[in-house]
Amino acid sequence: MRERGQREVFCGLTGIVWLHRKIQDAFFLVIGSRTCAHLMQSAAGVMIFAEPRFATAVMEERDLAGLADANDELDAAVARLLERRPDIKMLFLVGSCPSEVIKLDLSRAAARLSDRHAPAVRILSYSGSGIETTFTQGEDRCLAALVPELPRVDNAPPQLLIVGALADVVEDQFARLFAAMGLDTVCFLPPRRAGDLPAVGPNTRFLLAQPFLADAAKALEARGAAHIAAPFPLGAEGTTLWLKAAAQAFGVDPMCFRAATAAPEARAKRALAPLEASLAGRRVFFFPDSQLEIPLARMLSRELGARLVEVGTPYLHRQHLAEELALLPEGTVLSEGQDVDRQLDRVRAAAPDITVCGLGLANPLEAEGLTTKWSIELLFTPIQGYEQAGDLAALFARPLDRQTRLRV
Ligand code: SF4
Repeated sequence: MRERGQREVFCGLTGIVWLHRKIQDAFFLVIGSRTCAHLMQSAAGVMIFAEPRFATAVMEERDLAGLADANDELDAAVARLLERRPDIKMLFLVGSCPSEVIKLDLSRAAARLSDRHAPAVRILSYSGSGIETTFTQGEDRCLAALVPELPRVDNAPPQLLIVGALADVVEDQFARLFAAMGLDTVCFLPPRRAGDLPAVGPNTRFLLAQPFLADAAKALEARGAAHIAAPFPLGAEGTTLWLKAAAQAFGVDPMCFRAATAAPEARAKRALAPLEASLAGRRVFFFPDSQLEIPLARMLSRELGARLVEVGTPYLHRQHLAEELALLPEGTVLSEGQDVDRQLDRVRAAAPDITVCGLGLANPLEAEGLTTKWSIELLFTPIQGYEQAGDLAALFARPLDRQTRLRV
C-alpha cells in the first residue's frame, strides 16, 4: 500500500539526540525556530550535560534584506561557541524548515566558516527539516555530509566499513566478533571522534547497520565503495545473517565463522526463548516512523511467533531491504508513506495486541484502549546484536505484560 497523505512523524532534527552522544567531540547547532528549540529541549533535554553538545540558534522572522545580517549573526554565534568550547572538533550546522532558515544557504555558510576556523574545527551542514526528512533521516543526512570528508584510499587492502550509529557497547561487541573471524580492518561510520574518520576507496565494502541510510550509501558508492547486501542485525537470526554477509564478502572460512558466532548466537536464542510466551500469536501493527519497522517485524514474526497486521514504513528502499522483505511471512501487508486518518481507521478496526508508533499517536491510542510501544525508544536503546536480542524482545513484551496484569 502506498499512501501520500498527512503524516505524523518527528523531523530529522531528532537524530541529534543519539548522534551527539556518538561523535563525542562534535557539536550540533540547529539553525531554527523556537519550535525546533522546544523539540530539542523536550526530546533531548532529559539528558543533562555540564557542557551540552547541541543547541539551537533561533532565527527570528525577517525579510530578504535581513539575510546579510542573518549570516553575520550566524558567524558571530559560531565564533562565540568555538571560542568558549575549544573541545569542539566538528561542528554541524543543522538546517530546519522555517522559511527564514530555508532562505539561508547553510552549505555556503559551512564552507565560509570552515575557512575561518580550519584546521581546528571542521564545519559541515545538513538538513534536518521536517519538510525534507523524517525522524531517522537526520542521521542519514548527517552521515552523507560526512562522506566527502573521509580520506581517500586507492590501493589499500580490502576493508570492511560498518555504516550507522550504534551504541559503543554494541560496536565493541561487533568489533570483537569480526576480529574472531579474522577481520581486523573494520571501521565504523560515524566514528567516536571527529579525527578518526575512516578512509574510503574502491577496496571498501560497507555493511549498513541501520535500514535508513539511503543517502549515505549513495555517497559511499559514489566514492567507489561497494554495498554488502544483508538483513539488519536485529535478533539472533538477523545478527547471524548480517555477520555472515560480511564473512562471505571477505572469504572467511565457514568453520571459522561458526566458531566465532555459535556461542553468542546460542546465548541470544536462550534470551529470546522465555519471551516467546508473551509474544507468540500476538498481533502487531506498525505505524511508519523510524524505518526500522520491516527488520523489527521480521524478527518478531520469525523469532517470536508474532503475527503482523500491518507493517508501515515512511520509505521503502527496495534494494537495501530486499533481504528483509524475502524473510517476511507471505502476504504481509506493507504500507509506505502515510495517510494518518486512514491508518488510524485501520488500526481501530484491526484492534491489534500491540501498536508500534510515534509519541504523538501513542497516548491517544492508549486512551482508546490499545497497547502501544513508542518507536523512538527503539532508537535510544541498544538493540542490535546477539547480546541485545533479549532486551529488544522485552521492549515489546513489557507493555503486553503490563496490560495483562492491569486487566487481571
Ligand atoms: Fe518543527 Fe521543522 Fe523545526 Fe522540525 S525542523 S522542529 S518540523 S520547525
